[in-house]
Amino acid sequence: MQEKQYDIAVIGGGAAGMAAAVEVRRHGYSCVILERENQLGGILMQCIHNGFGLQEFKQELTGPEFAEEFIEQVRHCGVEVLLDTTVASIEDSENGKQLYCYSQHHGITRLTVRAVILAMGCRERNRGNIHTPGTRPAGVYTAGLAQRLVNVEGYIPGKDVVIVGSGDIGLIMARRMTWVGARVHAVVEIQPYPSGLTRNIVQCLNDFDIPLYLSHVVSRILGKDRLEMVEITPLKDGIPDHDSTFHIACDTLLLSVGLVPENELAQAAGIELSAQTNGALVDSTMMTSVAGIFSCGNVLHVHDLADYAAEEARRTGAYAAAWLQNRPPRQQVAIRAGANVRYVSPPKMNPEQPDKLYLRALIVKNNAQLTMKLDNLTVKQKKLPHVQPSEMVSVTLTQRDLEKWQLSANTVLEVSIQ
Ligand SMILES: Cc1cc2nc3c(=O)[nH]c(=O)nc-3n(C[C@H](O)[C@H](O)[C@H](O)COP(=O)(O)OP(=O)(O)OC[C@H]3O[C@@H](n4cnc5c(N)ncnc54)[C@H](O)[C@@H]3O)c2cc1C
Repeated sequence: MQEKQYDIAVIGGGAAGMAAAVEVRRHGYSCVILERENQLGGILMQCIHNGFGLQEFKQELTGPEFAEEFIEQVRHCGVEVLLDTTVASIEDSENGKQLYCYSQHHGITRLTVRAVILAMGCRERNRGNIHTPGTRPAGVYTAGLAQRLVNVEGYIPGKDVVIVGSGDIGLIMARRMTWVGARVHAVVEIQPYPSGLTRNIVQCLNDFDIPLYLSHVVSRILGKDRLEMVEITPLKDGIPDHDSTFHIACDTLLLSVGLVPENELAQAAGIELSAQTNGALVDSTMMTSVAGIFSCGNVLHVHDLADYAAEEARRTGAYAAAWLQNRPPRQQVAIRAGANVRYVSPPKMNPEQPDKLYLRALIVKNNAQLTMKLDNLTVKQKKLPHVQPSEMVSVTLTQRDLEKWQLSANTVLEVSIQ
């Protein structure tokens, strides 16, 4: 078994892992990225469409271009990278943490580090998660897997396609499958409103005359060896209207039905998870319930933009470095998700540290207003031209806010949207 030592290990080499690692190095600590794939970039490498980088690099990039910007920074600042390396466990040790990793090239490696940053991303929910009845034929894929097959492996999974879920990955795959010569017959969405960005509805569905069935479900999957047909049922007030059921013949069903943080490693390490985000419960410095383990990117909560994941990860890298330097006390003000807010991340803040919060709405509304209250007293408001559950909202807490508010450890800050 090989042995290695670093100040900080970052698990996962996607946008979040790379941004966090670069920040750690900028603070002068040794850092390694452990990545199970044979290249850095994570999910970005299969997202060959543009729409990345407007916030980070002030230009519109494809996923691989966005990744390349970070890969260059990783190279430049001397972060070590171990590819084809899967982290199997994180354990406490006298000097910090021990990580056991395996690789087909190097066998088993034991790393001793002072702190760990989790950046393992998320995975897709699948048929089992949405309990669709029917047979179990070939031809049912998650949308992200189909994206990888088409964009990375050069394989077209089918010719006649139905897509479940109108989130951005489903919409982007509707356009992608059309471009590679398949016919996309329908996008079926259980909610009465689309889940993806309006620009993706226009550019990926409307421009190609692909029908979007809102308040509908795929109620049965039919086919012996290969998928032959799906049964689709409209919902009336949320109840299936079986009299109006219809069928679409197809050989491929793509599921775009949500993402879940990849948290098995965190759970095994005894880290407390949040019921709202399914990611780790963190404090204002992105430190989990286990001292010395931090979390960022999609493994913390699912981000809709890589730019946001990178921004959050950079702050996480800086917090991890600060923790190595002086282990600052955990000064925490609780942040509560109020009316129409699913969650706020992080759910804690330092009363003396300006911060950025990300949150998700539970409603679809134009001209909405975000309100922050301390003990029922409104302390901050922000106009939001449009909110919907699939679009993250961010709010910055400035030094001026903190001085005005005079927060103490027992205060609770409540965030709501009306
Ligand atoms: C299919 C899909 C399409 C998207 N399209 C867009 C888009 O068009 N525009 C946009 O802005 N955003 C898009 N996003 C969102 C955005 O790309 C992500 O929010 C961001 O890139 C996530 O970065 P990450 O580093 O958190 O995760 P990831 O990119 O998923 O990186 C996690 C990395 O961790 C590695 N890993 C996991 N477990 C281990 C382990 N145990 N040991 C070692 N390595 C491990 C994985 O191999 C992976 O490389 C998309 C997301 C998905 C899932």
